[in-house]
Amino acid sequence: MNKRIKVFQTVTFRLTLYYAILFGVVSLTVFGLVYVTLTANLKQRMDETLRNDVQAFEMFYRINGIDALREEFKWEAEAVGIQRVFFRIISPRLDVMATSDMSAWKGLVLPRNLAQRLANGKEALETLTIPGTEHHVRVISKQLFEGNIIQIGNTVHDDEELVEDYRQIFTSAVMIMLLCGAIVGWFVARRAMAGVERITETAVGIGKGDLSRRVPQGNEGEEINHLAMAFNDMLERIQGLVKELREVTNNIAHDLRSPLTRIRGIAETTLTGEPTLDAYREMAGMVIEESDRLVEMINIMLEIAMAESGVRDLPRDEVDMTELAKEACELFHVLAEDKQVWLGIEIPQEHLIIPGDRSRLQRIIANLLDNAIKFTPRGGNVLLFVEGTLTHVIVSVADTGMGIDSQDLPHIFERFYRADRSRSTPGNGLGLSLVQALVRCHSGEITVESNPGKGSKFTLSLPRPAFPNPEIAKR
Ligand code: ADP
Repeated sequence: MNKRIKVFQTVTFRLTLYYAILFGVVSLTVFGLVYVTLTANLKQRMDETLRNDVQAFEMFYRINGIDALREEFKWEAEAVGIQRVFFRIISPRLDVMATSDMSAWKGLVLPRNLAQRLANGKEALETLTIPGTEHHVRVISKQLFEGNIIQIGNTVHDDEELVEDYRQIFTSAVMIMLLCGAIVGWFVARRAMAGVERITETAVGIGKGDLSRRVPQGNEGEEINHLAMAFNDMLERIQGLVKELREVTNNIAHDLRSPLTRIRGIAETTLTGEPTLDAYREMAGMVIEESDRLVEMINIMLEIAMAESGVRDLPRDEVDMTELAKEACELFHVLAEDKQVWLGIEIPQEHLIIPGDRSRLQRIIANLLDNAIKFTPRGGNVLLFVEGTLTHVIVSVADTGMGIDSQDLPHIFERFYRADRSRSTPGNGLGLSLVQALVRCHSGEITVESNPGKGSKFTLSLPRPAFPNPEIAKR
């Protein structure tokens, strides 16, 4: 029952029905028009024949008189068929003066007011039913000279038969048209729906767990192909996200386990050791430190996830990158000095304004400066460089530090990735992932060049608005 209801709700069924109805309506209209025209034409032709006959007999009557006309009526009716026609002349008092054989037209009575109706040479054309039969006759009555009336009747049986034949043909044709409409509708619907079915099939396959499935291209039309392409692109993205999610989960499981194991270890050592207040204080301090680190990692991971998913709409402040770089440099001056690393800055005179989130842009530069100072030994140099091109603001952080090995270079933006050489320095391997996610959030790009042992250079390119606000640029 349920299945039957569902069939009625399918697009295929509906299209089939609509096409059948459309074909039906069109054929009904066409055949209806033909029917009306045909019956009108037949009637007109019949009336014309009757009028011509009246004219011919009137002429004959005038020239040859009533006796000759009587003979003519007989002869003519027999020639055509006495069941098919009749002719008669009636006096104004309704006496029949001349007539053809009326044996087939017995029931036809003369209306009493016939003479009045036909006064002044009028003619009357009417279709009468022969009493006791289903046959119809078209009768013309017309007043001739001296008030005599001529009446000619002609059976419409042949015309009725023709119309009946037509009606039968018409009924069969409408049935055939309905069937054709249904077939065409079904075919069109099947063809259009084939693409949708392919997509459904793929979606069902994916629902069962096979994320690698894609919708094959077909030839149902551009719209379906576009839908299939959009669907495949979406799948590609979902598959990528799922893969990434899996990797992130694995990383999280692995990287969060270490601090947790450490926390557990600290607690265990304290419990099994001497139960002094100092030991417990030390444990509490270490647990707080490890927990803070964990919380920080989790916060950064959340930040990355949000930036990557694009869920969060960034505030679009007008950020002056020249100022921002100056402030960041001032902020890291102390750290650089402590490490005896020279920190320099090269910025242009102009204010380079881009739309973006000030605190996140600050974070990007801070992370890069932090890394550069962290991975540069005492006596080394770090240079923060800002310049504006017509379309972009370029920010680079170059150092003369340890550099990055070529095998590590493709991975440094991955979450938790830390090159072996840098494991002795503090860090969690999330800084560059966050930087990359935030840069992408600002529709920018980040690249890195490195010379192991000689230094590295990270370069950001952030798009400038097409028409910068001239007021801010002047400041
Ligand atoms: P973290 O600094 O916490 O280790 P990041 O994601 O910031 O994590 O960096 C990932 C890795 O990239 C670092 O562990 C390091 O191996 C490498 N790296 C980043 N910046 C530099 C740099 N300026 N010089 C040398 N290596 C770097």
